[in-house]
Amino acid sequence: MDFKRTHYIGHLDSSMIGKQVVVGGWIEDIRELGKLAFLTLRDVTGVAQIVLVGEALSQTKGLNRQSVVRVTGSVQESKARDFAFEIKSEKIDILTLAVHPLPIDPIGRLESNIDNRLNARALDLRNQKTASIFKLRHHVLYSIRKTLTENNFIEVNTPKIIGSASEGGANLFSLKYFDKQAYLAQSPQLYKEQLTIGLERVFEIASYYRAEKSHTVRHLTEFTSVDIEAAFMDYTDVMDVLELVVANVFEYTKKNCVTEQKILDIEIKKPSVPFERLTYKKVIEELGRDGIKLEIGDDLLDSHLRTLGERHPSFYFIIDWPMMLKPFYIHEKDDDTTLSRSFDLQYGYLELSSGGARLHDPKKLRSRLEDQGLDPAQFVDHLRSFDWGMPPHSGWGLGLDRLMSVLTKIDNVREVVLYPRDPERLSP
Ligand code: ATP
Ligand code: MN
Repeated sequence: MDFKRTHYIGHLDSSMIGKQVVVGGWIEDIRELGKLAFLTLRDVTGVAQIVLVGEALSQTKGLNRQSVVRVTGSVQESKARDFAFEIKSEKIDILTLAVHPLPIDPIGRLESNIDNRLNARALDLRNQKTASIFKLRHHVLYSIRKTLTENNFIEVNTPKIIGSASEGGANLFSLKYFDKQAYLAQSPQLYKEQLTIGLERVFEIASYYRAEKSHTVRHLTEFTSVDIEAAFMDYTDVMDVLELVVANVFEYTKKNCVTEQKILDIEIKKPSVPFERLTYKKVIEELGRDGIKLEIGDDLLDSHLRTLGERHPSFYFIIDWPMMLKPFYIHEKDDDTTLSRSFDLQYGYLELSSGGARLHDPKKLRSRLEDQGLDPAQFVDHLRSFDWGMPPHSGWGLGLDRLMSVLTKIDNVREVVLYPRDPERLSP
């Protein structure tokens, strides 16, 4: 079967009038008018009007929407309002017929609810709104890789099947690994720290797994995180890197995703940097003025962040968290050892990233593990590496799905993940 095309539809233009082309794609609409028939044909780059004449007409019987066809014809001027040119064809090859009824209307004339769309995700991607989200996501990933590469970060891949619970035991998915017990990684934390010994600056973009039964628009059981770790950087240095990564994502997609913005009806604006930096203490004071009484050491709950987010609707950092609220690997401050060299990046109420300076002294790390009720024996492999010349280092983890939801102004992360996993959803 010959199915090769000469052109993407989106690459055709009026200068090609008179030229013979072969295009292929999915039928969005068919109108038969006796001596001719009109097809609306879409490929990943665009949509074209096809005028079928002569022999091709007899083949339209049984042809339906979302069937895959190849059309050979010549480009000609069009009288249609929506098209400057069209393709006149006497030869159509039917490559695959769609089976109707389809579970959702992918053209979006009939709105389908999110569950029906997720159940038919591959077909949902024929909806240009959905496709635009994932084209944007591609450009976001590209921009992040570009920014980090330009700043001497090396992309790495660390294991997702791990033999011991890396950051304490809670929220880990466990699995049988032949005759052993294994877990799915919650983050690359320990690996990326170790890698600063050999590679200094590393980043990883990967899926992580958390067994949290959260039913929110911002939690999934499998999510994508962008992680960095850098030797000889303090927490303020990696905050600068995070600001640059985020600002560049907005700048790059604003410039390179014009069509996607139009289809999604959004206008991407580069946020101004530096982002506001609020200390945890300042946040507690601010919330106090809003009638929310918190003590130093209290965690900021969803309801507190909602209030805070009303005052700070865009990007801002919350820095210098109490040590007691942070994981064992976080470094204390020099002037007040009850506070940490740490930060969260927020967008309004939504946490996008957590990071900080890490302990690099193995003695301190061991005693912090014990303080937090963790068993140093569980961390022998990790602790060993700290005796091999561990540099001072800092890093962060940025939730890519949450960043996508901010960029697209779509609240539910399920919309910006192809096949989301949550406590209820395990397929397709
Ligand atoms: P939250 O308090 O919102 O549950 P967290 O503090 O537990 O997040 P971290 O361990 O700090 O999350 O992970 C770093 C980043 O990864 C978070 O700031 C967030 O953007 C993203 N992230 C964490 N858990 C999830 C999840 N279940 N679904 C989607 N993104 C997540
Ligand atoms: Mn966090």
